[in-house]
Amino acid sequence: MGEPGIGGPGTGGHRRAPLGDGTRAVRAGLPEPVKNEPPLPGPVFAAHFHLPGEVEGPYTYGRDTNPTWTLLERAVAELEAPGDESAETVVFASGMAAVSAVLFSQARAGDTVVLPDDGYQVLPMVRAQLEAYGVRVRTAPTAGEAQLGVLDGARLLWIETPSNPGLDVCDVRRLAEAAHAGGALVAVDNTLATPLGQRPLELGADFSVASGTKGLTGHGDLLLGHVTCRDPRLAAGIRHWRKIVGAVPGPMEAWLAHRSLATLQLRTHRQWDNALAVAEALSHRPDVRGLRYPGLPDDPSHQRAARQMWGYGSVVSFTLADRAHAERFLSALDLVEDATSFGGVRSTAERRGRWGGDAVPEGFIRFSAGIEDTEDLIADVLRALDLAGSQD
Ligand SMILES: *Cc1c(COP(=O)(O)O)cnc(C)c1O
Repeated sequence: MGEPGIGGPGTGGHRRAPLGDGTRAVRAGLPEPVKNEPPLPGPVFAAHFHLPGEVEGPYTYGRDTNPTWTLLERAVAELEAPGDESAETVVFASGMAAVSAVLFSQARAGDTVVLPDDGYQVLPMVRAQLEAYGVRVRTAPTAGEAQLGVLDGARLLWIETPSNPGLDVCDVRRLAEAAHAGGALVAVDNTLATPLGQRPLELGADFSVASGTKGLTGHGDLLLGHVTCRDPRLAAGIRHWRKIVGAVPGPMEAWLAHRSLATLQLRTHRQWDNALAVAEALSHRPDVRGLRYPGLPDDPSHQRAARQMWGYGSVVSFTLADRAHAERFLSALDLVEDATSFGGVRSTAERRGRWGGDAVPEGFIRFSAGIEDTEDLIADVLRALDLAGSQD
């Protein structure tokens, strides 16, 4: 990666905009300063608000609106679509609440929805539920824009790029153009990239959807999700869905998330640098196969990623000889926790096959780079690989 603030899509470096990522992240969603008030007001715990007389004003009942959500929603909208006043974010209790809000509020019986067949492991369950409601579902792989081939007559295209955990990348602009030409809406799952790594709305998507549980909040201590879109009617539909389903985040989670955004640029840039360093170190190892990181210049995803991403994310994937070898590697690590999820400040890794959902080899490892010092992290990974290999 380049120096912070230099480059952007096309160069593969970090972005330069009127305000840098770090500045935007640290100020995102802050209210106008009020004398004697805190810069980021604390969480508002309220199931209901004083409401004498007519039902009016922004805050009436805690399932509809909450001032702590409002500030977080403004912050995330500023990050997903810098400088675009029309962008609106709706926050949810989890990433899946946000994913389901888009799919289930948009798709009607008889509609066709296109999903990736290599996306997040809960999507097959979502598919079964959509089909139970009479929605037709088609799938295709992320790589090579294969979804183009199954778009005909679709109502909604769901894209996940980079895909999790395979790290394939598709050209969002190209897919969005084709989908729109056929009258379909386009949603991109932006969880892996975070809004500092990729801005789907600028690439033509109608919805940018993400789990805030991962890199966006980054501390592995809360669940959250969001949907960002520009069309006020689409946003109103998403808000309506949240109201009727009640998938609302707690004020404490929303506030913690907003607080965490201040360090988003520091965290993601260190994670991206660490992920690239880990990938480079792994690329020299004969015991590592199937190495994938979109930031590696010779990765199959690199060209597409460089055209549409500002950073390549914290996740590296690779395969060790077999299940036992992978388990020895994971237990030999000192600085990397064996845990699922990704995008946290502490590096994590797991043998993805233990879940059974993804089509991956038994020795497949999904590695998420944290914010440790790069030399320490690399040394730990290489030492654990040596130890795992010496017991063959
Ligand atoms: C984790 C994840 C989700 C779901 O998010 P939760 O916060 O766990 O509900 C959705 N999409 C992707 C790509 C994810 O990694």
